[in-house]
Amino acid sequence: MNFSALNRSALLSRLQSEHFDLIIIGGGITGAGIALDAASRGLKTALVEKKDFAYGTSSRSTKLIHGGLRYLKQLEFGLVKEVGSERAVVHKLAPHLVVPEKMLLPLSEKKGLGYWLTSIGLKVYDLLAGVKSEDQRRMLTKLQTLKHEPLLRKDDIKGGAIYAEYRTDDARLTIEIIKTAVRHGAVVSNYATVTEFLYVDRNVTGVKVMDVLTGTSFILHGTAIVNAAGPWVDQLRELNKSKKGKSLHLTKGVHIVLPREKLPVHQAIYFDVEGDNRMIFAIPRGRTTYVGTTDTNYTGDQDQVVTSREDAEYLIKAINAAFPLVNLNLNDVESSWAGLRPLIHEEGKSASELSRKDEIFISDSDLISIAGGKLTGYRKMAERVVDLVAEKYFDDRTLKSCETERIKLAVSPFLSVAEVKQYEREVEMRIEKYGFTKQKANYLVETFGKEANTILSHLERMNHAEPEAGLLLAELSFCLQNEIVCSLTDFFVRRTGLVYFNIELVYRHSKTIALHMQQLLGWPDDQLTKEENELTAVVNDAVRFKN
Ligand code: FAD
Repeated sequence: MNFSALNRSALLSRLQSEHFDLIIIGGGITGAGIALDAASRGLKTALVEKKDFAYGTSSRSTKLIHGGLRYLKQLEFGLVKEVGSERAVVHKLAPHLVVPEKMLLPLSEKKGLGYWLTSIGLKVYDLLAGVKSEDQRRMLTKLQTLKHEPLLRKDDIKGGAIYAEYRTDDARLTIEIIKTAVRHGAVVSNYATVTEFLYVDRNVTGVKVMDVLTGTSFILHGTAIVNAAGPWVDQLRELNKSKKGKSLHLTKGVHIVLPREKLPVHQAIYFDVEGDNRMIFAIPRGRTTYVGTTDTNYTGDQDQVVTSREDAEYLIKAINAAFPLVNLNLNDVESSWAGLRPLIHEEGKSASELSRKDEIFISDSDLISIAGGKLTGYRKMAERVVDLVAEKYFDDRTLKSCETERIKLAVSPFLSVAEVKQYEREVEMRIEKYGFTKQKANYLVETFGKEANTILSHLERMNHAEPEAGLLLAELSFCLQNEIVCSLTDFFVRRTGLVYFNIELVYRHSKTIALHMQQLLGWPDDQLTKEENELTAVVNDAVRFKN
């Protein structure tokens, strides 16, 4: 059965009619990772997500698979070792989607660590993470640093370093893990909100779920129940009447997106913010460069997190101070996103001082909640949760041990970076005749891997008069068939990232895409209007700070 919105009612029937070993609440990277780990060990697994997969924090991160250099400064050696080592593992699982990215760390005359401390720190970072010797940090003189990035402020740079990290697309990584979990037997649905817990003898034995698309509710029965609801973890603990002891501390992080020519950095850079003790990233991606992040306490509505004017101005000011020649203002910003870190509260600590470590809470009624952590560490977090579930509930069964280190995140996986590059060249040649460039080939391969073949076959068959619209329709067709796209925003925000990285394409072609979805999914006219209004609201939110 295709993982398609057209098969959603069959999926929901399965959810209602079967008893599951494990029910997971939340389809961000944490829930997705647990679903794949559990299903691949042989547990009968269900996952429900209240909106779209990666709707929460997992589509709003810095999109780095990184060891967290900053956590070394906070002496979190265990965390750095775990997430640092995970980078190479996740890269191997999906080399087209988790791409090596050398990071430039300029050293400022006025602040930050000195040259030798940085050199030792980065060495420790590499050693903890087991980075191969050829990829280990390289220290740079002032001249070399400015050669790497001539836009940097010349009077302030005393040297620099280059070190290894990886970049990804968080929402694509989440959906690929979800699809892989489904291939391993997990039963998964988006737009399915948990509204109540069900109990037998004071233990949770199921959840009431509302199908958001029809407004109907159903019961889902399971042995173990995991709350992986990210920033909403405490809401579910409240519903379970178990929110006591430790609780979440939400902090907001914002990124702004600029056309590449406005901030034409040669590579990813991790630089100091003038005026405070923070550091932020500038990361080139396709036709854009994005910059972030902020880190401020947040107590508002988790479903309405947007970039404020103050957030955007903070980032613009930081860019202008570090790269004095670019002279940007708010009008240069094309798009933005804002997300919430679901961190564990620690008395007396500021937003940036809070640990990024994950923690598991088990309530008196046996609801297992997991919070904190990083996108990068999703696999190890999942392993810990599934180990716990296996030990607590299924020690009478012979379950496989965790094998996600070997489960590739694609139907036809790439085996090496060289193979990805070769495939990208083939795609480039295939789309040249439509006037598309290398950049488009890169987008297609990083977004869809070898499934770009299916998309290009659609495009070739369609022979659309306008290739740009034709390609989008081909991408939509693939996503509808294989990635359970249910709404316009699913497609434009989380499957393609276009609202962030090519908002002009959204302005130009959203009507065509909307009409096509209406036809394929049988939307009545009022549903079409609702979908279009929702997309407009999301697009407006991405640029709202300008008004
Ligand atoms: P989410 O992605 O928020 O998923 C929780 C899901 O639960 C949501 O989709 C939500 O809709 C669903 N849900 C909630 N309530 C219900 C309900 N009642 N029923 C059903 N579903 C429900 N980490 C890195 O490794 N690298 C980075 O570069 C990085 N950058 C970051 C930058 C920022 C600004 C932020 C905020 C975080 C960053 N992180 C990064 C951390 C990382 O993004 C998060 O740790 C991770 O995405 C959290 O995933 P999650 O699945 O726990 O939460």
